[in-house]
Amino acid sequence: MENLENKIKINLDGKIIYARKGSTIVEAARENGIYIPTFCHFEGTDPKACCRICSVKINNRLMTSCTTPVTAGMEIESNTEELKDFRKSIVELLFVSGNHFCPTCEKSGNCELQALAYRFKMLVPRFPFSFPRKEADASNPKIIKEQNRCIACKRCIKTIHDEQGRHYFAYKNRGQHLEVVLDPVLGASISDALAKRAMENCPVGSILYKGKGFDQPIGTRKYDKQPIGSEIENQS
Ligand code: SF4
Repeated sequence: MENLENKIKINLDGKIIYARKGSTIVEAARENGIYIPTFCHFEGTDPKACCRICSVKINNRLMTSCTTPVTAGMEIESNTEELKDFRKSIVELLFVSGNHFCPTCEKSGNCELQALAYRFKMLVPRFPFSFPRKEADASNPKIIKEQNRCIACKRCIKTIHDEQGRHYFAYKNRGQHLEVVLDPVLGASISDALAKRAMENCPVGSILYKGKGFDQPIGTRKYDKQPIGSEIENQS
């Protein structure tokens, strides 16, 4: 029998679930086999609520589930048609504000943006494409930073640092000129392991390890086989 000590009861999409005290909604959902998509939220890092794709409704208000802790008796909507369309609109916005050409992208099949577009059955985005002029920076010996594909989720900034806590990636510029760049000085000595981790942590194909990037060929990759989120939903 499940030990309910340190658990609290909440209502998620009309279903009573028991959530760990102190957990956020997105964590509680995942631990109960309910998938809520995330980009900027990444396991092991502090939530930042910058991408908004994990938004849910509580008392008819949109809240980011990665930053909202569960409280006893909370009633949460996470799977309504309105919320699904809201999340789909964020995916569409990300597509039109960059240059994402899935058939020629090295990350195809492992890309979370592409996988969410499939999950939400995105066809033609409702927003106009902006086709921004962006460059790929291949000056680093180990990494290609492909700015056309970056969705500015900050995962690389938060997770890729050395033992002294110095971060390899950082924001540059503001507004529509904002870019996430690799520090040219610190990045010059990045290890192979860290460069590969940066590529893996990036949800899209904006960070590529030079040389052999991916072991699995396109067509046999994670999201080629099953929709994103099904690994969580299949646990329930
Ligand atoms: S490079 Fe990748 S991980 Fe870094 S901010 Fe851009 S999309 Fe996110």
